[in-house]
Amino acid sequence: MAIPTPRKTSTSRDLKSKKETTAQSAATKELKKQLLKEYKNAWDLNPADEHDFAFAFAEEYMAFLDQARTEREFVTLSVETLENMGFEPLQSKAKLVPGDKVYKNIRNKGLAIAVIGRQPAVTGFNLIGAHIDAPRIDLKANPVYEDGDLVYFKTHYYGGIKKYQWTAIPLSLHGVVHRADGSLLTISIGDRADEPVLTITDLLPHLGSEQMSKKATEVIRGEDLNVLISGIPFSDTETGGRFKLGLLNLLKEKYDLTEADLVTAELEIVPAFPARDVGLDRSMIGAYAHDDRSCSFPALVALTSVDRLEQTGVTFLFDKEEIGSEGNTGAKSKVYEHFIYELYAKQEDQPNQLDFYRLLENSRMLSGDVTNAFDPTFASVSDPRNNAYMGRGINYMKFGGSRGKAGTSDANSEFYASIINLMEENKIAWQTGELGKVDAGGGGTIAGYMANLGIEVIDCGVPVLSMHSPFEIISKIDLYHTFLAYKVFFQKMAR
Ligand code: MN
Ligand code: MN
Repeated sequence: MAIPTPRKTSTSRDLKSKKETTAQSAATKELKKQLLKEYKNAWDLNPADEHDFAFAFAEEYMAFLDQARTEREFVTLSVETLENMGFEPLQSKAKLVPGDKVYKNIRNKGLAIAVIGRQPAVTGFNLIGAHIDAPRIDLKANPVYEDGDLVYFKTHYYGGIKKYQWTAIPLSLHGVVHRADGSLLTISIGDRADEPVLTITDLLPHLGSEQMSKKATEVIRGEDLNVLISGIPFSDTETGGRFKLGLLNLLKEKYDLTEADLVTAELEIVPAFPARDVGLDRSMIGAYAHDDRSCSFPALVALTSVDRLEQTGVTFLFDKEEIGSEGNTGAKSKVYEHFIYELYAKQEDQPNQLDFYRLLENSRMLSGDVTNAFDPTFASVSDPRNNAYMGRGINYMKFGGSRGKAGTSDANSEFYASIINLMEENKIAWQTGELGKVDAGGGGTIAGYMANLGIEVIDCGVPVLSMHSPFEIISKIDLYHTFLAYKVFFQKMAR
Protein backbone atom coordinates (compact mmCIF):
# COMPACT_ATOMS: atom_id res chain seq x y z
CA MET A 1 0.00 0.00 0.00
CA ALA A 2 1.31 3.39 -0.94
CA ILE A 3 1.23 6.44 1.25
CA PRO A 4 -1.30 8.96 -0.17
CA THR A 5 0.25 12.18 -1.35
CA PRO A 6 -1.27 15.23 0.37
CA ARG A 7 -3.17 17.43 -2.05
CA LYS A 8 -1.37 20.66 -2.61
CA THR A 9 -3.67 23.59 -1.94
CA SER A 10 -2.92 27.22 -2.20
CA THR A 11 -3.14 28.93 1.22
CA SER A 12 -2.61 32.38 2.50
CA ARG A 13 0.70 31.07 3.81
CA ASP A 14 2.12 31.03 0.28
CA LEU A 15 1.13 34.65 -0.13
CA LYS A 16 2.91 35.96 2.92
CA SER A 17 5.56 38.50 2.23
CA LYS A 18 9.13 37.38 2.18
CA LYS A 19 9.79 39.71 5.14
CA GLU A 20 7.32 37.87 7.36
CA THR A 21 8.83 34.51 6.43
CA THR A 22 12.28 35.75 7.30
CA ALA A 23 11.05 37.06 10.64
CA GLN A 24 9.40 33.75 11.37
CA SER A 25 12.45 31.71 10.47
CA ALA A 26 14.54 33.95 12.69
CA ALA A 27 12.16 33.25 15.57
CA THR A 28 12.27 29.51 14.88
CA LYS A 29 16.03 29.68 14.75
CA GLU A 30 16.06 31.41 18.12
CA LEU A 31 13.68 28.83 19.56
CA LYS A 32 15.81 25.99 18.25
CA LYS A 33 18.86 27.59 19.79
CA GLN A 34 17.08 27.73 23.13
CA LEU A 35 15.58 24.25 23.06
CA LEU A 36 17.96 21.98 21.20
CA LYS A 37 21.40 20.87 22.34
CA GLU A 38 23.84 21.12 19.50
CA TYR A 39 27.41 19.86 19.88
CA LYS A 40 29.61 22.14 17.81
CA ASN A 41 33.00 21.37 16.35
CA ALA A 42 35.65 22.99 18.53
CA TRP A 43 37.70 24.23 15.57
CA ASP A 44 34.75 26.59 14.86
CA LEU A 45 34.24 27.89 18.36
CA ASN A 46 36.89 30.40 19.33
CA PRO A 47 39.11 32.88 17.50
CA ALA A 48 41.78 31.49 15.23
CA ASP A 49 44.57 32.27 17.68
CA GLU A 50 43.22 29.43 19.81
CA HIS A 51 44.28 27.09 17.02
CA ASP A 52 47.85 28.34 17.54
CA PHE A 53 47.64 27.55 21.26
CA ALA A 54 46.25 24.12 20.47
CA PHE A 55 49.09 23.41 18.03
CA ALA A 56 51.69 24.69 20.50
CA PHE A 57 50.29 22.53 23.30
CA ALA A 58 50.36 19.54 20.94
CA GLU A 59 54.09 20.15 20.30
CA GLU A 60 54.83 20.00 24.03
CA TYR A 61 52.72 16.89 24.40
CA MET A 62 54.39 15.10 21.50
CA ALA A 63 57.86 15.89 22.81
CA PHE A 64 56.84 14.47 26.20
CA LEU A 65 55.38 11.32 24.60
CA ASP A 66 58.62 10.68 22.74
CA GLN A 67 60.56 10.72 26.01
CA ALA A 68 58.05 9.02 28.31
CA ARG A 69 57.48 5.66 26.63
CA THR A 70 56.45 3.74 29.76
CA GLU A 71 54.85 4.46 33.13
CA ARG A 72 58.30 4.46 34.78
CA GLU A 73 59.67 6.94 32.26
CA PHE A 74 56.55 9.10 32.70
CA VAL A 75 57.24 9.23 36.45
CA THR A 76 60.96 9.94 36.04
CA LEU A 77 60.34 12.78 33.59
CA SER A 78 57.48 14.22 35.68
CA VAL A 79 59.51 14.20 38.90
CA GLU A 80 62.35 15.98 37.09
CA THR A 81 59.89 18.61 35.83
CA LEU A 82 58.25 18.98 39.25
CA GLU A 83 61.59 19.38 41.03
CA ASN A 84 62.57 22.09 38.54
CA MET A 85 59.31 23.89 39.28
CA GLY A 86 59.86 23.88 43.04
CA PHE A 87 57.67 20.93 44.03
CA GLU A 88 59.04 19.06 47.06
CA PRO A 89 58.65 15.45 48.21
CA LEU A 90 55.69 15.29 50.59
CA GLN A 91 57.66 13.24 53.13
CA SER A 92 60.20 16.08 53.45
CA LYS A 93 57.55 18.46 54.83
CA ALA A 94 56.41 18.34 58.46
CA LYS A 95 53.61 20.88 57.93
CA LEU A 96 51.75 22.16 54.90
CA VAL A 97 50.44 25.68 54.30
CA PRO A 98 48.54 27.26 51.39
CA GLY A 99 50.77 27.61 48.34
CA ASP A 100 52.91 24.57 49.16
CA LYS A 101 53.64 22.31 46.21
CA VAL A 102 54.39 18.68 46.94
CA TYR A 103 54.52 15.26 45.30
CA LYS A 104 54.89 11.61 46.20
CA ASN A 105 56.59 9.10 43.95
CA ILE A 106 54.57 5.87 44.15
CA ARG A 107 57.24 3.16 43.66
CA ASN A 108 58.47 4.79 40.43
CA LYS A 109 55.27 3.75 38.61
CA GLY A 110 52.63 6.10 39.98
CA LEU A 111 52.67 9.72 41.11
CA ALA A 112 50.60 11.93 43.41
CA ILE A 113 50.99 15.71 43.16
CA ALA A 114 49.37 18.51 45.16
CA VAL A 115 49.14 22.29 45.37
CA ILE A 116 47.76 23.35 48.75
CA GLY A 117 44.80 25.73 48.59
CA ARG A 118 43.67 28.50 50.91
CA GLN A 119 40.42 26.85 52.02
CA PRO A 120 40.44 24.45 54.98
CA ALA A 121 41.14 20.86 53.93
CA VAL A 122 37.79 19.67 55.28
CA THR A 123 35.99 21.64 52.54
CA GLY A 124 37.35 19.09 50.07
CA PHE A 125 40.01 18.81 47.40
CA ASN A 126 39.76 19.08 43.62
CA LEU A 127 41.36 15.98 42.15
CA ILE A 128 42.19 14.80 38.65
CA GLY A 129 43.23 11.21 38.12
CA ALA A 130 44.51 9.57 34.95
CA HIS A 131 46.60 6.52 34.20
CA ILE A 132 50.12 6.41 32.80
CA ASP A 133 50.38 2.71 31.95
CA ALA A 134 49.39 1.67 28.42
CA PRO A 135 48.87 -1.59 26.53
CA ARG A 136 52.21 -3.13 25.65
CA ILE A 137 54.19 -6.38 25.58
CA ASP A 138 56.13 -7.48 28.68
CA LEU A 139 58.97 -10.01 28.81
CA LYS A 140 58.45 -13.34 30.57
CA ALA A 141 60.72 -14.27 33.49
CA ASN A 142 62.82 -16.63 31.35
CA PRO A 143 62.64 -14.72 28.09
CA VAL A 144 65.72 -15.71 26.06
CA TYR A 145 65.67 -18.67 23.66
CA GLU A 146 67.19 -19.55 20.32
CA ASP A 147 65.53 -21.16 17.36
CA GLY A 148 66.29 -21.29 13.64
CA ASP A 149 69.69 -19.62 14.14
CA LEU A 150 68.02 -16.58 15.73
CA VAL A 151 67.40 -15.41 19.30
CA TYR A 152 64.03 -14.32 20.66
CA PHE A 153 62.32 -13.03 23.82
CA LYS A 154 59.23 -14.84 25.10
CA THR A 155 56.58 -12.32 26.13
CA HIS A 156 53.27 -11.94 27.93
CA TYR A 157 51.26 -9.00 26.62
CA TYR A 158 49.84 -6.36 28.96
CA GLY A 159 46.32 -4.96 28.56
CA GLY A 160 43.76 -5.41 25.82
CA ILE A 161 45.51 -5.54 22.48
CA LYS A 162 44.69 -6.86 19.01
CA LYS A 163 47.78 -9.05 18.90
CA TYR A 164 48.10 -9.03 15.11
CA GLN A 165 48.64 -5.23 15.19
CA TRP A 166 51.95 -5.66 17.00
CA THR A 167 53.75 -7.72 14.35
CA ALA A 168 55.98 -6.39 11.58
CA ILE A 169 56.50 -2.99 13.19
CA PRO A 170 59.61 -1.52 14.87
CA LEU A 171 59.59 -2.01 18.64
CA SER A 172 61.71 -0.65 21.46
CA LEU A 173 62.76 -2.10 24.81
CA HIS A 174 62.35 -0.23 28.09
CA GLY A 175 62.57 -0.98 31.76
CA VAL A 176 64.72 -1.76 34.76
CA VAL A 177 66.98 -4.61 35.77
CA HIS A 178 68.17 -5.02 39.34
CA ARG A 179 71.41 -6.98 39.12
CA ALA A 180 72.41 -9.61 41.66
CA ASP A 181 74.91 -7.17 43.23
CA GLY A 182 72.06 -4.73 43.97
CA SER A 183 72.91 -2.26 41.22
CA LEU A 184 70.22 -0.87 38.92
CA LEU A 185 70.29 -0.79 35.13
CA THR A 186 67.75 1.40 33.35
CA ILE A 187 67.15 0.31 29.77
CA SER A 188 65.82 2.31 26.83
CA ILE A 189 66.75 0.95 23.42
CA GLY A 190 65.17 1.58 20.06
CA ASP A 191 63.60 5.03 20.09
CA ARG A 192 66.57 7.05 18.89
CA ALA A 193 67.38 6.99 15.20
CA ASP A 194 70.90 5.63 15.86
CA GLU A 195 69.64 2.75 18.01
CA PRO A 196 68.56 -0.69 16.76
CA VAL A 197 64.92 -1.73 17.05
CA LEU A 198 63.33 -5.08 17.82
CA THR A 199 60.35 -6.64 16.08
CA ILE A 200 57.81 -9.48 16.08
CA THR A 201 57.65 -11.33 12.78
CA ASP A 202 54.53 -12.17 10.78
CA LEU A 203 53.95 -14.84 8.17
CA LEU A 204 54.42 -14.01 4.48
CA PRO A 205 51.10 -13.93 2.57
CA HIS A 206 52.43 -16.55 0.14
CA LEU A 207 52.21 -19.12 2.94
CA GLY A 208 49.47 -17.43 4.91
CA SER A 209 46.30 -18.96 3.53
CA GLU A 210 45.65 -21.12 6.60
CA GLN A 211 46.52 -18.25 8.93
CA MET A 212 44.25 -15.85 7.05
CA SER A 213 41.27 -18.15 7.43
CA LYS A 214 41.57 -18.08 11.24
CA LYS A 215 39.64 -15.79 13.59
CA ALA A 216 41.48 -12.51 14.17
CA THR A 217 42.07 -13.44 17.82
CA GLU A 218 43.98 -16.51 16.66
CA VAL A 219 45.86 -15.10 13.65
CA ILE A 220 48.63 -14.25 16.10
CA ARG A 221 48.33 -16.05 19.45
CA GLY A 222 49.81 -14.89 22.75
CA GLU A 223 52.64 -17.41 22.47
CA ASP A 224 53.42 -16.13 18.94
CA LEU A 225 54.40 -12.68 20.21
CA ASN A 226 58.10 -13.58 20.21
CA VAL A 227 60.45 -10.65 19.88
CA LEU A 228 63.40 -11.02 17.50
CA ILE A 229 66.52 -9.95 19.38
CA SER A 230 69.72 -11.17 17.71
CA GLY A 231 71.37 -13.41 15.10
CA ILE A 232 75.17 -13.63 15.54
CA PRO A 233 76.32 -16.92 17.16
CA PHE A 234 78.99 -17.15 19.87
CA SER A 235 82.40 -17.65 18.24
CA ASP A 236 83.16 -21.11 19.72
CA THR A 237 81.71 -23.43 17.07
CA GLU A 238 82.09 -26.50 19.30
CA THR A 239 79.48 -25.44 21.85
CA GLY A 240 75.68 -25.93 21.70
CA GLY A 241 73.19 -23.03 22.04
CA ARG A 242 75.65 -20.70 20.32
CA PHE A 243 73.08 -18.10 19.30
CA LYS A 244 71.65 -17.68 22.78
CA LEU A 245 75.18 -17.65 24.20
CA GLY A 246 76.09 -14.98 21.65
CA LEU A 247 73.30 -12.76 22.92
CA LEU A 248 74.05 -13.42 26.61
CA ASN A 249 77.70 -12.63 25.95
CA LEU A 250 76.65 -9.33 24.38
CA LEU A 251 74.38 -8.54 27.35
CA LYS A 252 77.30 -9.26 29.70
CA GLU A 253 79.78 -7.11 27.78
CA LYS A 254 77.45 -4.20 27.10
CA TYR A 255 75.23 -4.12 30.17
CA ASP A 256 76.94 -6.41 32.72
CA LEU A 257 73.85 -8.64 32.80
CA THR A 258 73.33 -12.38 33.21
CA GLU A 259 70.30 -14.47 32.35
CA ALA A 260 69.46 -14.68 36.07
CA ASP A 261 69.22 -10.86 36.28
CA LEU A 262 66.39 -10.93 33.74
CA VAL A 263 64.18 -13.05 36.01
CA THR A 264 63.36 -10.14 38.34
CA ALA A 265 63.54 -7.42 35.70
CA GLU A 266 60.63 -5.34 34.42
CA LEU A 267 61.15 -5.05 30.68
CA GLU A 268 58.49 -3.68 28.36
CA ILE A 269 58.22 -3.70 24.58
CA VAL A 270 56.52 -0.67 23.01
CA PRO A 271 56.25 0.75 19.47
CA ALA A 272 59.49 2.41 18.37
CA PHE A 273 58.14 5.29 16.32
CA PRO A 274 57.74 8.90 17.50
CA ALA A 275 54.48 10.88 17.73
CA ARG A 276 53.58 12.37 14.33
CA ASP A 277 51.21 14.99 12.96
CA VAL A 278 48.34 13.30 11.13
CA GLY A 279 46.35 14.84 8.29
CA LEU A 280 47.38 17.33 5.62
CA ASP A 281 46.08 20.05 7.94
CA ARG A 282 48.11 18.56 10.82
CA SER A 283 44.96 18.66 12.95
CA MET A 284 45.59 15.28 14.58
CA ILE A 285 48.34 13.39 16.38
CA GLY A 286 49.23 9.77 15.77
CA ALA A 287 51.19 8.10 18.56
CA TYR A 288 51.50 5.18 20.91
CA ALA A 289 49.74 5.53 24.31
CA HIS A 290 47.34 8.46 23.87
CA ASP A 291 45.40 6.14 26.19
CA ASP A 292 45.89 7.63 28.65
CA ARG A 293 48.73 10.10 28.25
CA SER A 294 46.41 12.48 26.38
CA CYS A 295 44.69 12.85 29.78
CA SER A 296 47.59 12.32 32.18
CA PHE A 297 49.85 14.89 30.48
CA PRO A 298 47.16 17.64 30.60
CA ALA A 299 46.41 16.63 34.23
CA LEU A 300 50.10 17.10 35.09
CA VAL A 301 50.49 20.39 33.21
CA ALA A 302 47.19 21.80 34.51
CA LEU A 303 48.28 21.43 38.14
CA THR A 304 51.78 22.75 37.54
CA SER A 305 50.50 25.81 35.68
CA VAL A 306 48.22 27.10 38.46
CA ASP A 307 49.55 29.25 41.27
CA ARG A 308 47.14 30.30 43.98
CA LEU A 309 44.33 27.84 44.51
CA GLU A 310 41.27 28.18 46.74
CA GLN A 311 40.68 24.43 47.06
CA THR A 312 43.69 22.12 47.28
CA GLY A 313 44.40 20.60 43.87
CA VAL A 314 45.64 17.03 43.45
CA THR A 315 46.73 15.09 40.37
CA PHE A 316 46.97 11.31 40.62
CA LEU A 317 48.86 9.47 37.90
CA PHE A 318 47.96 5.81 38.25
CA ASP A 319 49.66 2.64 37.14
CA LYS A 320 47.97 -0.69 36.19
CA GLU A 321 44.67 0.72 34.88
CA GLU A 322 44.89 -1.39 31.75
CA ILE A 323 44.89 -4.62 33.77
CA GLY A 324 42.32 -3.74 36.42
CA SER A 325 44.03 -1.18 38.70
CA GLU A 326 45.26 -3.89 41.09
CA GLY A 327 48.39 -3.76 43.21
CA ASN A 328 50.17 -1.11 45.25
CA THR A 329 50.66 1.29 42.33
CA GLY A 330 47.14 1.01 40.85
CA ALA A 331 44.07 3.11 41.63
CA LYS A 332 42.61 0.44 43.93
CA SER A 333 45.58 0.85 46.28
CA LYS A 334 45.12 2.60 49.62
CA VAL A 335 48.35 4.44 48.92
CA TYR A 336 46.46 7.20 47.07
CA GLU A 337 44.01 7.59 49.96
CA HIS A 338 47.00 7.72 52.32
CA PHE A 339 48.37 10.61 50.26
CA ILE A 340 45.13 12.55 50.74
CA TYR A 341 45.28 11.79 54.46
CA GLU A 342 48.87 13.00 54.70
CA LEU A 343 47.94 16.25 52.92
CA TYR A 344 45.11 16.69 55.41
CA ALA A 345 47.01 15.71 58.54
CA LYS A 346 49.93 18.00 57.78
CA GLN A 347 47.57 20.99 57.61
CA GLU A 348 45.86 20.33 60.94
CA ASP A 349 47.01 20.67 64.54
CA GLN A 350 44.67 17.91 65.62
CA PRO A 351 43.72 15.74 62.65
CA ASN A 352 40.80 13.43 63.28
CA GLN A 353 39.22 10.63 61.31
CA LEU A 354 35.76 12.21 61.09
CA ASP A 355 37.06 15.38 59.47
CA PHE A 356 39.07 13.26 57.05
CA TYR A 357 35.92 11.42 55.99
CA ARG A 358 34.20 14.79 55.55
CA LEU A 359 37.10 15.95 53.39
CA LEU A 360 36.64 12.91 51.13
CA GLU A 361 32.88 13.38 50.82
CA ASN A 362 33.38 17.07 50.03
CA SER A 363 35.97 16.33 47.34
CA ARG A 364 35.41 16.38 43.58
CA MET A 365 37.28 14.48 40.93
CA LEU A 366 37.68 14.36 37.19
CA SER A 367 38.62 10.83 36.20
CA GLY A 368 40.62 11.51 33.05
CA ASP A 369 40.44 8.71 30.55
CA VAL A 370 40.07 8.46 26.81
CA THR A 371 36.99 7.25 24.99
CA ASN A 372 36.34 5.97 21.48
CA ALA A 373 35.88 8.63 18.81
CA PHE A 374 33.11 7.90 16.31
CA ASP A 375 34.65 6.02 13.42
CA PRO A 376 32.45 6.08 10.28
CA THR A 377 34.18 2.96 8.98
CA PHE A 378 33.00 1.03 12.04
CA ALA A 379 29.80 2.98 12.72
CA SER A 380 27.76 -0.13 13.51
CA VAL A 381 29.25 -0.55 17.00
CA SER A 382 28.26 2.94 18.13
CA ASP A 383 25.06 4.84 18.84
CA PRO A 384 25.82 7.91 16.68
CA ARG A 385 23.65 10.11 18.91
CA ASN A 386 25.58 9.08 22.02
CA ASN A 387 29.15 8.79 20.89
CA ALA A 388 32.10 11.16 21.12
CA TYR A 389 33.32 12.78 17.90
CA MET A 390 36.80 13.91 16.89
CA GLY A 391 37.12 17.68 17.27
CA ARG A 392 34.15 18.35 19.51
CA GLY A 393 36.19 18.83 22.68
CA ILE A 394 36.54 16.98 25.98
CA ASN A 395 34.12 14.06 26.29
CA TYR A 396 32.11 13.58 29.49
CA MET A 397 30.84 10.13 30.28
CA LYS A 398 28.28 9.89 33.08
CA PHE A 399 28.64 6.13 33.21
CA GLY A 400 30.67 3.44 31.49
CA GLY A 401 30.09 -0.25 31.89
CA SER A 402 28.06 -2.27 29.43
CA ARG A 403 25.01 -4.47 29.09
CA GLY A 404 23.00 -2.84 31.86
CA LYS A 405 25.69 -0.44 33.13
CA ALA A 406 27.43 -3.37 34.80
CA GLY A 407 30.39 -2.39 36.94
CA THR A 408 30.18 1.32 36.26
CA SER A 409 30.53 4.37 38.46
CA ASP A 410 27.50 6.52 37.61
CA ALA A 411 28.25 10.20 38.27
CA ASN A 412 25.62 12.07 40.29
CA SER A 413 23.56 14.56 38.34
CA GLU A 414 24.16 17.30 40.93
CA PHE A 415 27.92 17.07 40.44
CA TYR A 416 27.82 16.50 36.67
CA ALA A 417 25.65 19.60 36.16
CA SER A 418 28.06 21.74 38.18
CA ILE A 419 30.94 20.57 35.97
CA ILE A 420 29.05 21.30 32.76
CA ASN A 421 28.20 24.79 34.07
CA LEU A 422 31.90 25.34 34.65
CA MET A 423 32.61 24.28 31.05
CA GLU A 424 29.92 26.59 29.64
CA GLU A 425 31.01 29.59 31.74
CA ASN A 426 34.58 29.17 30.52
CA LYS A 427 33.77 28.47 26.86
CA ILE A 428 35.29 25.02 26.91
CA ALA A 429 34.22 22.65 24.16
CA TRP A 430 32.60 19.59 25.68
CA GLN A 431 30.57 16.70 24.41
CA THR A 432 29.18 13.48 25.75
CA GLY A 433 29.31 9.92 24.49
CA GLU A 434 29.18 6.34 25.67
CA LEU A 435 31.75 3.78 24.66
CA GLY A 436 29.80 1.86 22.04
CA LYS A 437 26.29 0.49 21.79
CA VAL A 438 24.59 -0.81 24.94
CA ASP A 439 25.21 -4.46 24.14
CA ALA A 440 28.44 -3.95 22.21
CA GLY A 441 31.04 -3.92 24.95
CA GLY A 442 32.34 -1.09 27.09
CA GLY A 443 35.34 -0.24 29.20
CA GLY A 444 36.34 0.36 32.78
CA THR A 445 38.11 3.35 34.31
CA ILE A 446 39.49 4.35 37.70
CA ALA A 447 36.35 6.42 38.53
CA GLY A 448 34.70 3.70 40.61
CA TYR A 449 37.63 3.20 42.98
CA MET A 450 37.74 6.89 43.81
CA ALA A 451 33.94 7.13 44.08
CA ASN A 452 34.07 4.27 46.60
CA LEU A 453 35.97 6.63 48.93
CA GLY A 454 32.99 9.00 48.88
CA ILE A 455 34.45 11.46 46.36
CA GLU A 456 32.21 12.91 43.60
CA VAL A 457 33.70 11.59 40.33
CA ILE A 458 32.99 11.81 36.62
CA ASP A 459 34.89 10.33 33.69
CA CYS A 460 36.09 12.73 31.02
CA GLY A 461 38.81 12.79 28.41
CA VAL A 462 39.96 12.81 24.83
CA PRO A 463 38.25 10.83 22.02
CA VAL A 464 40.61 8.39 20.29
CA LEU A 465 40.59 6.55 16.96
CA SER A 466 42.33 3.15 16.74
CA MET A 467 42.44 2.91 20.54
CA HIS A 468 44.88 0.37 22.01
CA SER A 469 46.69 0.05 18.68
CA PRO A 470 50.38 0.93 18.33
CA PHE A 471 49.35 4.15 16.54
CA GLU A 472 46.37 5.83 18.20
CA ILE A 473 44.87 9.06 16.80
CA ILE A 474 43.54 12.12 18.64
CA SER A 475 42.55 15.65 17.60
CA LYS A 476 44.77 18.51 18.74
CA ILE A 477 41.77 20.68 19.57
CA ASP A 478 40.31 17.96 21.84
CA LEU A 479 43.64 17.63 23.63
CA TYR A 480 43.80 21.39 24.15
CA HIS A 481 40.24 21.69 25.44
CA THR A 482 40.88 18.79 27.81
CA PHE A 483 43.84 20.74 29.18
CA LEU A 484 41.68 23.89 29.50
CA ALA A 485 38.94 21.90 31.25
CA TYR A 486 41.40 20.44 33.77
CA LYS A 487 42.96 23.82 34.46
CA VAL A 488 39.63 25.56 34.97
CA PHE A 489 38.56 22.73 37.27
CA PHE A 490 41.56 23.36 39.53
CA GLN A 491 41.17 27.12 39.39
CA LYS A 492 37.45 27.56 39.78
CA MET A 493 35.70 24.45 41.04
CA ALA A 494 34.35 25.34 44.45
CA ARG A 495 32.12 23.57 46.86
MN1 MN B 1 42.44 4.41 29.53
MN1 MN C 1 42.83 1.59 27.75
